[in-house]
Amino acid sequence: MSSSEPLDTADSLDSAADTGARSLPLVMAEPRGRAKPPRHLADLSLAERRAYAVELGLPAFRARQVSTHYFDRLVDDPAAMTDLPAGQRDEIVAAFLPALMTPLRTLEADRGTTRKTLWRLFDNALVESVLMRYPDRVTMCVSSQAGCGMACPFCATGQGGLQRNMSTAEIVEQVVAGARSLARGEVPGVSRGSTAGGRVSNVVFMGMGEPLANYRAVIGAVRRLTEPAPSGLGMSARGVTVSTVGLVPRINQLAGEGIPVTLALSLHAPDDELRNELVPINTRFSVDETVDAAWNYARVTKRRVSIEYAMMRGINDQAWRADLLADVLLARGDWGWVHVNLIPLNPTPGSKWTASDPADEREFVRRLEARGIPTTVRDTRGREIDGACGQLAAVEG
Ligand code: SAH
Repeated sequence: MSSSEPLDTADSLDSAADTGARSLPLVMAEPRGRAKPPRHLADLSLAERRAYAVELGLPAFRARQVSTHYFDRLVDDPAAMTDLPAGQRDEIVAAFLPALMTPLRTLEADRGTTRKTLWRLFDNALVESVLMRYPDRVTMCVSSQAGCGMACPFCATGQGGLQRNMSTAEIVEQVVAGARSLARGEVPGVSRGSTAGGRVSNVVFMGMGEPLANYRAVIGAVRRLTEPAPSGLGMSARGVTVSTVGLVPRINQLAGEGIPVTLALSLHAPDDELRNELVPINTRFSVDETVDAAWNYARVTKRRVSIEYAMMRGINDQAWRADLLADVLLARGDWGWVHVNLIPLNPTPGSKWTASDPADEREFVRRLEARGIPTTVRDTRGREIDGACGQLAAVEG
């Protein structure tokens, strides 16, 4: 969507009567006039990097050499780049690998296997990313915007508003930083000498921001993550999940990209009345339109869609809402196009909502499964370091 379309206007929503939610404006476009992050090789395709090298008066093959250091060897120290002429290393690295972000602090949980890092970007904007090592995989949860304009009242990021979009390279750098810390052996959980699980296998766009509101940079990042080295990190597209509040035109656009990433839709309510309050973008795209777009994504990409549903006590966790959710999903067919991922609500400052009673959660799962809908409950990590879903707020201190 272009900035002239009605979606890009900021406006206020009516306050939510029965949940008592505070009303924040829904903001689609980043504030104007912010300086752009420095250009970095991860912003560019390999062909563009070659052209850039030539522009700098360098042989084109320097682009491939620096790319191999960055994406394959995970090296950013000029001294380690011995295939570059010693006298030019600093200059080449400054041009291709400008510093994008500085780690301010890393908090650990789950015996060091969950690590949340707070980053300061070039313009002092703050973002967070979370690395989670499991026995069989390593998942990086990345931010795509500094802040978020979607104003979901139960999410700490949504309550802070949108500062700016992140660049492709700023998104990719979070994953590369995670890969480096694995390579340096900083993350426990794998026996010494084993390389199994030593790579970032999954990336989820579930950190700060609404990825589809920063579409171009996010698609660029997905390309860099999935292109083979030295063009990119060489991950499988199946290991990448883009989570969205449901920007319908963008979901449709994503379906046409030919990159089979997994789509996760933050539904949280099966009816418009409640979803208008919990996920304010619903006032633009109804539950029906949103679920249709998710169904279409599954149809086009043959990838099963994940429906995210944060379980909030007494708000959206009633048995009748489980039945209604099943109706809404099964109305589009039962060919395995969808599964439901329930997220126990994580506490956020100022939010009066709490997680569902375990018995209600079990009943919710039971009703969905009785209708043949595969349902899982997310194993939420990092709650004690405010690193869990909806808790990322990037406050220094
Ligand atoms: N903007 C994207 C990605 C954000 S976060 C989106 O909304 O999908 C990833 C998931 O965490 C979303 O499903 C989001 O709704 C959920 N979430 C937000 N706050 C939460 C909270 N306090 N507890 C549990 N899940 C939360």
